Amino acid sequence: MQEAILEALSKVIDPELRIPLTELEMVGEISISSEGHADVQIKLTITGCPAARKIELESKQAVEKVPGINSVNIKLTVMTASERDALKAKLLGGKPLKHNPFDKDTLTNIFLIGSGKGGVGKSTLTANLAVSLANQGLRVGLIDADIYGFSIPGQLGITEKPTRVDELILPPVAYGVKVISIGMFIEGNTPVAWRGPMLHRAIEQFLSDVFWGDLDVLLVDLPPGTGDIAITLGQLLPTAKTIVVTTPQISASEVAERSGAVGLQTGQAIFGVIENMSYLETAGARMELFGSGGGELVAKSLSELSGTKVALLGQIPISVPLRQGSDTGKPLLGQDSDEPAALAIQAISSQIAGSGRELAGRRLPLTTK
Ligand code: ADP
Repeated sequence: MQEAILEALSKVIDPELRIPLTELEMVGEISISSEGHADVQIKLTITGCPAARKIELESKQAVEKVPGINSVNIKLTVMTASERDALKAKLLGGKPLKHNPFDKDTLTNIFLIGSGKGGVGKSTLTANLAVSLANQGLRVGLIDADIYGFSIPGQLGITEKPTRVDELILPPVAYGVKVISIGMFIEGNTPVAWRGPMLHRAIEQFLSDVFWGDLDVLLVDLPPGTGDIAITLGQLLPTAKTIVVTTPQISASEVAERSGAVGLQTGQAIFGVIENMSYLETAGARMELFGSGGGELVAKSLSELSGTKVALLGQIPISVPLRQGSDTGKPLLGQDSDEPAALAIQAISSQIAGSGRELAGRRLPLTTK
């Protein structure tokens, strides 16, 4: 019966680490009385683990289903320092801490999502694309590197802080996406007035101190413009491809184009352009509130600049449910929706999911002396 209980607990997944409790060596002593009562010890990684209640409940439900068990008591305790060291060693898979898992040898498909100016819907699309990719069964990570205008936690309804297992940071998971944002490390709405080296250090920490596990896709929400962070990330994520978000407005396309060009300078290929807020559909007619042609124009200019074809990946209409979802922390793509904006985002996420980590079209990094 002990084995049946362990088997049942192997189906319970730690919500932060996304690994079964049994593999994490979190299951301690199990005792079963002759009347069919089971006492099961579950060893949490840290005291005050925010996932404790969920783990307790799911473990209890799993063990209750074991034939012959009538009642279950889950006893939550905390790992000893040496048990935690063993867990960390296992999570890091023999790699030292402070190692950037997304260097040139990574198998993760990485996308930097940028825009020329703010307010074009870059974060909204990044959050929804991440959820859509997770819906397709991919293992997805999302870094909110929009240090000054971080909004990803709000978009995905994340209020909890990351759990720390000593120096390892476990990212909160929402809609199947592992998320880390500078917003999780500052109090309230404090403005972030950091200088370049501090930003560089924060981004480095997001890559190396966070337990990402094996990811299929990593999306990075860049700050608008062509700043330090884009360059830092370009260097730290050599295999990343750039996606540029723009509106149909022709006057904004030049600045959008510049944000894509930064990626080219640090050696990133451009994956494509997304045009957001393309039109408003009312009573069967399309109203082009912000004009038309901006997305096409940016794709064409970036094709010329890079010497390879840069595609317009899609056009997202103006959508009240998309906006409401991002305002309320319930992303549209996390709901069952046939809203045109949801379908357009889904179609783009399929293009992302179907793309390989091929090296064709990648430029050699240009350095200035
Ligand atoms: P950025 O990250 O580019 O600064 P946001 O993602 O924060 O922009 O979006 C700015 C605002 O526009 C948000 O309130 C968001 O909900 C809204 N928004 C974004 N895309 C759309 C769209 N297609 N339809 C309606 N509202 C949108």
